[in-house]
Amino acid sequence: NHDDPVKDTVPAEARSPVTLTHADRVLDPVSHLTKQGLATYMRAVSARMLPLVAGRLLSLLRCPEGTAQACFFQRHATVGTPVQWRRKLVKEKDGRAINYVYLTDVDGLVAAAQIGVLELHLWGSQARKLESPDRLVFDLDPDPDLPFSEVKAAAVAVRDVLAALDLASFPLLTGGKGVHVVAPLGPGAGGGRRQWPVVSAFAKAVAEQLVEARPDAYVATMSKARRQGRIFIDHFRNARGASAVAPYSPRAKPARAGGGTPIACPVTWEELAAAERADIYTTADAPALMRRPDPWARYFEMRQDLGAGACRVLGVK
Ligand code: ATP
Ligand code: MN
Ligand code: MN
Repeated sequence: NHDDPVKDTVPAEARSPVTLTHADRVLDPVSHLTKQGLATYMRAVSARMLPLVAGRLLSLLRCPEGTAQACFFQRHATVGTPVQWRRKLVKEKDGRAINYVYLTDVDGLVAAAQIGVLELHLWGSQARKLESPDRLVFDLDPDPDLPFSEVKAAAVAVRDVLAALDLASFPLLTGGKGVHVVAPLGPGAGGGRRQWPVVSAFAKAVAEQLVEARPDAYVATMSKARRQGRIFIDHFRNARGASAVAPYSPRAKPARAGGGTPIACPVTWEELAAAERADIYTTADAPALMRRPDPWARYFEMRQDLGAGACRVLGVK
């Protein structure tokens, strides 16, 4: 299928294994995670991570000299882009076409480690169907003074609103301060509504419904002033070109002494209820996480969409 760049023939150079240089370089001075350690982590989680990451345009946080030095975001292909990655020309708002990157396999993940990528962030659609988002994400950003229990309650509230609209959702501990609630969309019928403007409007309407019910607890606007004592339900992740952290991505966030580097970690709703923080899992937990059942096992079984009824309820056209 020549429409599908993820499955098409891999060029010979892309099959070359990644050579790790400066493997002992420390990327995270608190956890002592090295480039070798990051590559080992990527391999360990690849079976769970790749189905959620492969074929999606990336936004990358690179820390080539470790988090003690400068880190920078990279969205576009450059001279140093690994041969194990693919490129896709994407039209920007201003009409220019720019090369974005995506990966397709475990070598792509290891190549990310090789160039000092600490965080992988994803578009809400796949490179081969760029204009058709296939997930909703609600990024819950609490006022730093709020206890984590409030964040968990907000996640459940989002889940319940989505469930009432016939959408199942899955929680992600971000490895930072908050939780993302993710609802897969498609494949199958309903694709006509699965376009950026509709999906963005749908997510905004869900957030606004929650704010209307609990204006004391939630805000749906970027304004920092309004956020005091509340949780920002960041629905702006559902726009074309916006990103959200990849499941299983490490985080360039302060690690706690004695553990690994924090990761963004999929959990079950039961596990979320028991979690005491958003950064309880780290790179050191990879073997244990891979031994337990996949908390998002049902993610790929969902055949759900923005239904006509749900759109009517929310006033989304
Ligand atoms: P936390 O739980 O601590 O909020 P987070 O990953 O949700 O962690 P946010 O600051 O809420 O962090 O950002 C949400 C998402 O928006 C990120 O995961 C990232 O994909 C995207 N994002 C935020 N800031 C930037 C940035 N400067 N450049 C590119 N993408 C960004
Ligand atoms: Mn957030
Ligand atoms: Mn946010």
